[in-house]
Amino acid sequence: MQIRRLKLSGFKSFVEPAELRIEPGLTGVVGPNGCGKSNLLEAIRWVMGEASPKSLRGGGMEDVIFAGTATRAPRDFAEVSMLVERAPSDNQPGGESEVTRRIERGAGSAYRLDGKDVRAKDVSLLFADAATGAHSPALVSQGRIGAIIAAKPTERRQMLEEAAGISGLHVRRKDAEQK
Ligand code: ATP
Ligand code: MG
Repeated sequence: MQIRRLKLSGFKSFVEPAELRIEPGLTGVVGPNGCGKSNLLEAIRWVMGEASPKSLRGGGMEDVIFAGTATRAPRDFAEVSMLVERAPSDNQPGGESEVTRRIERGAGSAYRLDGKDVRAKDVSLLFADAATGAHSPALVSQGRIGAIIAAKPTERRQMLEEAAGISGLHVRRKDAEQK
């Protein structure tokens, strides 16, 4: 799976709608301290379904919404859309998909997949099957290397399962066991 484009609006420091095209190959994001480089990575993790505000450096999920500055009013929603190119898998043919997550103050998060309302779970399955997702070891935040080294064996196993692309199977098995 490859990320093709990212659109952000009201997400953290990205108060004005911003669009980033990501071309094939290596992409680097450079800029001074505090310009929003880590916020970009967090936007990618958030749109893939991150449920823990802490791993987005916030106290609550609404902390991802632009909080305002001395000269700008806060926003009442944040929205991130990510266009991805899916590789063909056993369950579905390859192609493009656009995933959108939106959060409104007091109303929680909602997801869309190619314009249709979907559950958080549908989004997490899409990424779990592609061996990526909000907890993918491919996303390494500042200071996380040390945490990965210190991880418990069970946590490390989870990382290996995500890397091997089998975490989607676990979600489905749990689902089947409950039915
Ligand atoms: P460094 O090079 O130090 O790692 P960085 O480019 O990774 O910096 P970020 O951590 O992505 O920078 O951005 C931090 C900035 O984002 C801070 O100025 C912070 O005030 C701003 N910010 C974070 N959350 C919000 C929010 N909800 N509303 C407004 N601004 C926010
Ligand atoms: Mg940073």
